[in-house]
Amino acid sequence: MLIDNHNRTINYLRLAVTDRCNLRCNYCMPAEGINFAHRDTLLSISELTSLSKWMVEEGIDKIRITGGEPFVRKDLMVLLRSLSAMEGLGDISITTNATLIGPYISELKELGILNINLSLDAIHRETFERITRRDQYDTVYNNLLRLIAEGFNVRINFIVLENQNIQDILPILELQKHYPVSVRFLEEMPFNGGSKSFNRIEWNYKKILEYVTSAYPDVEKLPSPATSTSINYKIKGHKGAFGLIPSFSRTFCGTCNRLRITATGDVITCLYGKPKMNVREIMRGADAETRLKKAIQNTIGHRERTGFDAQQAHANVFDNSMTSIGG
Ligand code: SAM
Ligand code: SF4
Repeated sequence: MLIDNHNRTINYLRLAVTDRCNLRCNYCMPAEGINFAHRDTLLSISELTSLSKWMVEEGIDKIRITGGEPFVRKDLMVLLRSLSAMEGLGDISITTNATLIGPYISELKELGILNINLSLDAIHRETFERITRRDQYDTVYNNLLRLIAEGFNVRINFIVLENQNIQDILPILELQKHYPVSVRFLEEMPFNGGSKSFNRIEWNYKKILEYVTSAYPDVEKLPSPATSTSINYKIKGHKGAFGLIPSFSRTFCGTCNRLRITATGDVITCLYGKPKMNVREIMRGADAETRLKKAIQNTIGHRERTGFDAQQAHANVFDNSMTSIGG
């Protein structure tokens, strides 16, 4: 079992498989991209598989595959096939921009990988293109509808961006009105590769809730697991649900059960901190399994209590880009 120094059980690994992406969302990275990792610094698929297996043996039972855009990694399905056969791993999920998932939908279904978080910060094409700086709207929207039709458990992640997509908040709720999906509104975090800095946000989760309930007063709060980062609601008569994720307000740190490992092997114990160690050399050296397990246990034993503490402890944390951290 992985238990941190604040007595929180860590059973959820967010594993990034690349820092590269075919979109350029302006809240995530600058238009020109970031200094992407060199190929030989990325963990190989076989290293990612061993790492996952050893983490599952240590008590991880949920792995989310993220990036960058996971599907730009050509051999992603090789990893997913191994994960789907891994004993003890109860939940495999993917966070994706849904531009490249199309050819893999059938196999994902066969593998039983049905939990897809799909990032979509706009329902209007112009808003989408302005935010992502790319023209992939039709592909994303069609893949979204396909995933829903195929019975995937789809959660739409919508980052609320002041002066950018406020006009899309109410229209995107139409998706959860007609389909059994959850639309989750996330607060913007200042991890955009240094292209924009801020230390407060106008559109926090309270304001988003007020805005939604002014249009839909008949909402019911849904029960959520203690470790959930999302506060969930159902609008009367709608098929799906909506949620609020206070990712900037950080109300959920007390029950945080997550560990992040980036595509280059950096181990991050809090989004608002810097990497605590790197596993790449361990994975490539002698006695990798024992050394990895010991190093992870040690790192988990030195977590900050909250995102605010982590932010205090690390200078320049806001130079980071979410494409390297994995969200
Ligand atoms: N490319 C995939 C995607 O966009 O879904 C996976 C990686 S992306 C970095 C993971 C999640 O982080 C996405 O839901 C994205 O919207 C979110 N994200 C990126 N930058 C963010 C920021 N500055 N604030 C809040 N969320 C952010
Ligand atoms: Fe790419 Fe996801 Fe970042 Fe957008 S949020 S640029 S899709 S990694």
